Amino acid sequence: MSGEKKTWMRQPIIVVLGHVDHGKTTLLDKIRGTAVARKEPGEITQHVGASVVPASVLKKLAEPLRKYFPKLVIEIPGLLFIDTPGHELFSNLRKRGGSVADMAILVVDIIEGFQPQTVEAINILKEKKVPFVVAANKIDRIEGWKPHADTPFLESIRDQSPRTLSLLEEKIYGLVGKLYEHGFEAERFDRVRDFRRTVAIVPISAKTGEGIPELLALIAGLSQQFMKKRLVTSEEPAKGVVLEVKEEPGLGTTIDVIIYDGVLRRNDVFVVAGRNGPIVTRVRSLLMPRPLQDMRMHEGRFINVDLVTAATGVKVAAPGLEDALAGSPFYVVPSDDKVEEYKRITQEEVSQIRFRAESDGVVLKADTLGTLEALIEAMRRENIPVKLADVGHVTRNDVIEASVVKKSKPEYGVILSFNVKVLPEAEELIAKEGIPVFKHNVIYQLLEEYFKWYREFKEQEK
Ligand code: GDP
Repeated sequence: MSGEKKTWMRQPIIVVLGHVDHGKTTLLDKIRGTAVARKEPGEITQHVGASVVPASVLKKLAEPLRKYFPKLVIEIPGLLFIDTPGHELFSNLRKRGGSVADMAILVVDIIEGFQPQTVEAINILKEKKVPFVVAANKIDRIEGWKPHADTPFLESIRDQSPRTLSLLEEKIYGLVGKLYEHGFEAERFDRVRDFRRTVAIVPISAKTGEGIPELLALIAGLSQQFMKKRLVTSEEPAKGVVLEVKEEPGLGTTIDVIIYDGVLRRNDVFVVAGRNGPIVTRVRSLLMPRPLQDMRMHEGRFINVDLVTAATGVKVAAPGLEDALAGSPFYVVPSDDKVEEYKRITQEEVSQIRFRAESDGVVLKADTLGTLEALIEAMRRENIPVKLADVGHVTRNDVIEASVVKKSKPEYGVILSFNVKVLPEAEELIAKEGIPVFKHNVIYQLLEEYFKWYREFKEQEK
């Protein structure tokens, strides 16, 4: 034996973002449907919190595109799609200095064009340095569009009327212009010369399925070409991120983890961030969704597995996860003498997000580390200082912090609360001190409300 570690290329992790109603869920459903319908027998496409389009399916989809893209050869084992679209879940895919997501699809309704959450998604992707392609969705709604579900897009456009085609072009140029305003060069995918510099726009219909093979082939091609290093993984102890913390009947509190590097085994010791500091525990069971065809024959939604390799979405059951935080890093500890080191690394990472600063600023409370970090970053973008940022419900102490700030800097003497409750003990003091509390479970709306109030406050001051 050479003693060298075995390495392999893992699936890229893909997320779908975009404005509400622009078709994110429909697109993910269509992609999942395609993956299930065209997979080989025995291929597993369903993970926990994610779905895989296996290489076999990508190859079938890419075949009719070969005459347009002769160099397209699928080398990756598949694409792992995070099942839940949108910013809130994306923010939990956090990793120090970036995101666990390798690439994003920004869905834009081609008729409606850019909307507030489109812009927010672009800002977040920029900040996290996640490359993306634009799916210009709902092309079937362009006036006069003749749908061609199983025809390559470049053939289907030959069959459209000149008027319909010019409407399509007009809409695409609208998107190109908007992307330019946000600092990106963009082009329709078949006209891109340098994919490193230009964002590709793929016209699709999540309803009819048109353009989806092109979209998937493009993502596969780009990730193979530009992310080779990032996608290489080996038999290292697993690294991941906690997507969600969930109570499961018969299993207690479990965590849904996206493993982006290495191998995770039953009995591995791991560290995650908890409400009261790092949690060290041991994997009791690893659970994957039971394949649909087995559902009728067996009890339960999950099957036990001995190990998983990156990239995977897996449910981890272990003792002591009650206080685990979504958005936390997940590290397998390679050996007993490394426990303290891994606890420290985890703690350091979390203390960048949960903190109390000395200077005047707003109070931020959120349900997960990911959403809290997203709020902090939004405040930084607008140059608004943060006094206190923490996970959990709004307490009396948070109100005290805000009321101290209010005395010298009333524009910052506020509380922003994302997806958490205001405790009764806090309510009374809020009323007494007159502290504005902004509450919402959509990040951009929460921010909008505060920024609107802030601008009005500044106007009145003049
Ligand atoms: P999300 O909020 O971004 O997840 O959007 P949904 O996937 O829920 O889609 C919002 C609405 O748009 C639904 O009524 C969908 O059926 C519809 N929709 C999504 N994609 C398409 C499309 O390609 N064409 C048309 N005509 N409707 C679509």
